[in-house]
Formats: sequence, C-alpha cells, structure tokens
Amino acid sequence: MDKLSNGFMEEVVKACRPYTAQGEVIDHIPGLDQSHATDLGVTIITKEGDVYSAGEDDCNFSLQSISKVIILLMALEDFGKEVVFQKVDMEPTDDFFNSISNLENYEGHRPYNPFINSGAIATASLVNGSTVEERFQRILSFLQTITGDDEKVKLNEEVYRSEIKNGARNRSLAYFMESTGVLSNREAEEALDLYYRVNSIDVNSLALAKLGFFLANHGKISATGSQLIQSRHVRTVKAIMLTSGMYNESGTYAVDVGFPLKSGVSGSIVGAVPGRMGIGIIGPSINKKGNSVAGGQVLRMLSEKLRLNIFHDSTIV
Ligand code: GLN
Repeated sequence: MDKLSNGFMEEVVKACRPYTAQGEVIDHIPGLDQSHATDLGVTIITKEGDVYSAGEDDCNFSLQSISKVIILLMALEDFGKEVVFQKVDMEPTDDFFNSISNLENYEGHRPYNPFINSGAIATASLVNGSTVEERFQRILSFLQTITGDDEKVKLNEEVYRSEIKNGARNRSLAYFMESTGVLSNREAEEALDLYYRVNSIDVNSLALAKLGFFLANHGKISATGSQLIQSRHVRTVKAIMLTSGMYNESGTYAVDVGFPLKSGVSGSIVGAVPGRMGIGIIGPSINKKGNSVAGGQVLRMLSEKLRLNIFHDSTIV
C-alpha cells in the first residue's frame, strides 16, 4: 500500500492528467471555459487532520450538482427520512441526470432519487425557512461552517444568473412535478430558485475535501465536536452517494472505486471514505454522463493504491 504524501498526490495527478483529453468542458458556466480543459486538482483530508494536495487546487468553481448532497442533508435534518422519501425515491436509475421521461412513468411520479435534477428540485422543497433567501442562507452558513471558509465559499452571482438563463430543462422538470402533484405551484417556483442558488455556490478542492471529511466523520465537525447532522441521516446520504452519486455511471464507480461519491458538471467530485478521509477533486473536462474523466481516474488510482474500497478484503475473520 502506498503512503499518502504531497509527492504521491503529484504522481497521481501527473498520471491522470492525460485523461482530461477524453472529455469536454461544459460551455455555459461563467468562469469555466476551454482554457481549463487540462486542469486537474485534488485535495485530501485525513482523520488525523492532515491535508494533502496537488495540481490546480487553487481553482474556484461552482458546486453544481454537489449541491444535491447538501440539500438532501438539510431536508433529512429538517423533515426526517419518512417525509423526504415520500417526495422522492432512493433507487438508482440508468437515465441521464436531467431526464424527464421517468417522471411520467415511474411509480407515483416521484423522481428516482435525490441526486438527479428532478429529485434535487423535489428535495429542495423540504428545506425549512420562511423565504427562499432565508432557506439559502441556512444552507450557505451550514456549508461555511463545514468548510471553515466564509470568504471563498459564497454565492457566485454570475453563475446564478446563468443557471436561471439556462434553466429551461430544470423548469420543465419542476412544472412537470407540479402537474402530477409532487410539488405545489409555490413549492415548484421556490425549490427551483433554491436549487439554482445552491448550484451557484463557489468552492475549491479544499472545501470539497472538508465536505467529504464531514460525511466520512458521520456529520460531526472534528475541531469542535459538534454534531451538525444526525449520523443516521449522513449514513443515508452516503448510501445514496454510492448507488446514485455518479449518475448513470454509479454502478461502475461502486465497483471500481468503492466508496461514496458525488459529481457535478463543473467537473468536481466529492468523496467520503467512511472513518478515514474526505476527497475533493476538480477536473472540468467531463464525459457525456456529466462526470470528470480525469477525476474518475484519480479516484480509481487512490482507491487501489491506498486501499480505500469499503468492500476491501482487509478484515478477514
Ligand atoms: N446546473 C446543472 C443543472 O442543473 C447541474 C447539473 C449537474 O451538475 N449535473 O443541470
């Protein structure tokens, strides 16, 4: 087994960077263009509190679909598992992340899971607060507490405007769910706005690694010992990350990497190795399924060389 060090991380980034050529940078997120096509940054935080980092780890990028993890954590804490999973199911799907067809056919018209767009919009209707602004501020300050960063971790107004402008598919998902009674009209409008805003929060690979570590540490902030989210809810979120966090590539990642992950179309991935470490990755060149190609390769390498797969045979009885 390899030992974690900055030198080791640099080797991993060097070996995986060529895979950036196999994807493409999405063309409508402000601040992200083809000049970032070969970027690859990785940060790890271990349970000892050590930080290891390599590559373009100073890039700021928007959360995009990693928002879905935070929205689900808040909804579970606010409303509990029974209520949340009446609105949205917890099953994997082979459809693309922004698919609408399953909403017409699937039982009760519920979205398959909280980590596809329809599911995240439905889940966003279950975050407490009397206005969208108040609900957003609760989420933002939760994320700032987890990451210990209230400077870089903030709403990117330009990205927010672009989420609204390019949101036709998301609006159609929300209105479709209104038509089938999954959401009321008010819920649909507000959930969409909240979803756009949380997608537009800026982070970096260190912030993602801290989010990953928070999940790996079962919802507790190590430095203060405060349990921000009940551990049973964090367990639920990690299970759905394993089965649905990489969209319709989740099965492949469960086999090849073997720990909970969530990706976003900015090319970001958060990883949580239970009880061991948090991982934050940025690699903006993504494949057709919305996942960072080089980032995925980094995860495969880390999993193998550091023996991170939770199904590993290290504990034979
Ligand atoms: N902003 C994107 C959307 O809502 C996020 C999707 C993603 O990261 N996969 O479609």
